[in-house]
Amino acid sequence: MTTQSKAKDYSIYFQPPSLSDAKKRGKEDITVHYDFSIPEELRELGRDKYYLIQTYGCQMNEHDTETIKGLLEGLGYRATEDRRQADIILLNTCAVRENAEDKVFGELGHLKHLKTEKPSLLLGVCGCMSQEEATVNRILKKHPFVDLIFGTHNIHRLPFLVKEAMFSKEMVIEVWSKEGDIIENLPKKREGLKAWVNIMYGCDKFCTYCIVPYTRGKERSRRPEDVIAEVRELARQGYKEVMLLGQNVNAYGKDFEDLEYRFGDLMDDIRKIDIPRVRFTTSHPRDFDDHLIEVLAQKGNLMEHIHLPVQSGSNEVLKRMSRKYTREQYLELVAKIKAAIPDVVLTSDFIVGFPGETEEQFEETVALVREVGYDFAFTFIYSPREGTPAAGMEDTVPQDVKSRRLRRLNDVLSENMKRSNEKLLGQTVEVFVEGVSKNNDRVLAGRTRTNKLVHFEGPEELVGRLVQVHITDAPTFYIKGDWVQQAVVQ
Ligand code: SF4
Repeated sequence: MTTQSKAKDYSIYFQPPSLSDAKKRGKEDITVHYDFSIPEELRELGRDKYYLIQTYGCQMNEHDTETIKGLLEGLGYRATEDRRQADIILLNTCAVRENAEDKVFGELGHLKHLKTEKPSLLLGVCGCMSQEEATVNRILKKHPFVDLIFGTHNIHRLPFLVKEAMFSKEMVIEVWSKEGDIIENLPKKREGLKAWVNIMYGCDKFCTYCIVPYTRGKERSRRPEDVIAEVRELARQGYKEVMLLGQNVNAYGKDFEDLEYRFGDLMDDIRKIDIPRVRFTTSHPRDFDDHLIEVLAQKGNLMEHIHLPVQSGSNEVLKRMSRKYTREQYLELVAKIKAAIPDVVLTSDFIVGFPGETEEQFEETVALVREVGYDFAFTFIYSPREGTPAAGMEDTVPQDVKSRRLRRLNDVLSENMKRSNEKLLGQTVEVFVEGVSKNNDRVLAGRTRTNKLVHFEGPEELVGRLVQVHITDAPTFYIKGDWVQQAVVQ
């Protein structure tokens, strides 16, 4: 349909995300499509043209960007880092935190000048922000020079949308709330040494502060044979590490109606593939079952690092967040994991200053951090997301109190990290070499199996390989060591 606004005409297929509709989700209409291809007549659309994509937010978004790049290259576009050379610039956005949104709007302000200088430049906004009706309205009103907006459920439509945006004078907006489908066979342009593999999409947990269930849709798992085939292919291509991705990977398989196959089964099958390292993110504690723990305890290519977001150590706050577990249940899970994998490293996510969080409740979080002994955590001050239940809760915690709590939590986490790093002194550990240090080109940077950052001196040829490093020093945020030259593992 074509609609008119004061700002600009626009073509639109937009159904705004709705909390009540989302909660009524059924399981019935998940369809897997295997028939994707770019039509012949669109394959020259980007010939002699360049694309640039700016990605915000999580690894899921980074991975979507790989698909978007694959699609654009399928249209003939080539990559550039130079904005002035680009013929299409896409902002792949994140809606999880307010400051990520502010950055995107700031960026649009800068891009306006570029568009004035080069009117043929196509500017697009995609990702989670474009699934929010308020964002789309704000772009229509304040940034009418944007050419294209598309959502997270219709990335596969990009070839058609680019064509439409190229030849239309209107803003092209296509955002679907339809969320039941999985599109296989999309092209991907993978860069870097590690490969991301989606195992599922969406989330049905509805934590009260989180926008993801609305922007990414309902939980739907890729078929095991498709995931396994992709990991096998990556192993064949020589990748040393894969990261399995999902908003809540532990819910993998719950939506299968025709087979009893869960995340533990998938990990057990992937364990047998000849690829040196497999990681996964993100876990919701509630769905982390005993079978998965049993499988992870067999190690091999499954790393002894588990990211297990807890968000708060207070039962009252957990309830208001609707996390669906208690502090005691979480600690019981941690105890089981530690009993099965004694050298496991646990990391987490925390929200500080959730509406109504008292000093005592915050102290319960600090005590939990000490008790579990996390090595690292992503810590954030709560920021309301429009459309989520928590945004309507009374927020009585002053900003300076939130900031103070955040600093205190980070101090305790740093103490944990230092203590845990010191335990490695004198040990020789396997390190996957990821690159050369930014500050010193004789120093290489890599990760242990437990995901700790290691710096050591060595030749650049080691990048992309697994080596042994003898740990000699343990500052807080990384560890240092000497390369054990005789022992390149792979
Ligand atoms: S489990 Fe994670 S992605 Fe899902 S609603 Fe909760 S915080 Fe958001």
